[in-house]
Amino acid sequence: MSDVTKLACQCGALQMEVQGAPICVTECLCDSCRAASDRLERLEGSPELLTSYGATCCAEYRKDRLRFLAGQENLRDFRLTPASGTRRVVAICCNTPVFIEAKGGHWVSLYAVLWPEGDMPPVQLRTMVGDLADATNVPDDVPNHNKFAAKFMWRLLTSWVAMGFRNPKIETHGTLKA
Ligand SMILES: [Zn+2]
Ligand SMILES: [Zn+2]
Repeated sequence: MSDVTKLACQCGALQMEVQGAPICVTECLCDSCRAASDRLERLEGSPELLTSYGATCCAEYRKDRLRFLAGQENLRDFRLTPASGTRRVVAICCNTPVFIEAKGGHWVSLYAVLWPEGDMPPVQLRTMVGDLADATNVPDDVPNHNKFAAKFMWRLLTSWVAMGFRNPKIETHGTLKA
């Protein structure tokens, strides 16, 4: 059985694959993710990103487990402000958000919208719930953490050790204003 998962943007011009299981599957409630998802959702044809309670769902993968097969020339960097260390990369062929990369991070958070309907692995935990002014609508089906969860940070760290502390670079082609 292959442990490779095929992912694509909405129009199919961007084709990629990931190897193995994600480091973690999370919903983030932080101010930055909510602001960015809100802005990216307004791009023409962009898929819905935010859940009813304001979460953005992503799967964390090591960068060396990710391979672009086609359409990488469509990738553009979006930053909340010019000084933002974090970039969010969008496929402009159809305005599908692809991944979030923290500055210096050895992993990327791949947006759930890349998975075919129903194929996304289940959410394991929620992070940064403490950023919400009112969290009463957040379900309690998985652990909700007010900040970044220790388990989440630990999994990221051990995955970096397994990578030999490398940090591959992912090429994009310009920037995007949204
Ligand atoms: Zn596309
Ligand atoms: Zn976030």
